[in-house]
Amino acid sequence: MVFLMKIGVIAIQGAVSEHIDALRRALTERGVEAEVVAIKQKGVVPECGGIVIPGGESTTLCRMLAREGIAEEIKDAVTREVPILGTCAGLIVLAKEGDEQVEKTSQELLGIMDTKVNRNAFGRQRDSFEAEFEVEILDSPFTGVFIRAPRIVSCGPEVRVLSRLDDLIIAAEQENVLALAFHPELTEDLRIHQYFLDKVFDC
Ligand code: GLN
Repeated sequence: MVFLMKIGVIAIQGAVSEHIDALRRALTERGVEAEVVAIKQKGVVPECGGIVIPGGESTTLCRMLAREGIAEEIKDAVTREVPILGTCAGLIVLAKEGDEQVEKTSQELLGIMDTKVNRNAFGRQRDSFEAEFEVEILDSPFTGVFIRAPRIVSCGPEVRVLSRLDDLIIAAEQENVLALAFHPELTEDLRIHQYFLDKVFDC
């Protein structure tokens, strides 16, 4: 039997199908076969060689991940160096510390990245917007979609800042964990998903 790599997208809420589509397109583009699965309950994360935590509502995501026992499985996957990609609310879920807004809702953050985050960091007038910016891992600018986007306020020495917008940190990585304030799954540009897949396939 041929062993097929499994890549899981946390499917509790948020931009799930867009990530699944983007991953499938990225796999086709690189000519690699893998199974992309939606993770709705405990027991799937341990089978995955890569995990995506999509945007949505971080309060709900944190609560459900803890309640379903998926939070512990993700933390365990990190100790096995399984690559993780968190986008928007996913960036918040991955963080160690939140701002007052996060603390107030007693969100149980996963604490995987040594980051402090700020929810809805771009203000009301800029609830949703597109912007072009440089990302350290790409050789030309990326256009990102921001929807009530968070930012990383500060990070520890293990964290590599990959991109800033108006001086605010919007992308960072810590070993195999990648966090983005924007939604790469909402554009046609697959370069960030490809970068994540490079980590999954260890190339
Ligand atoms: N502002 C949302 C939160 O705090 C994140 C928004 C998003 O994922 N598009 O959870």
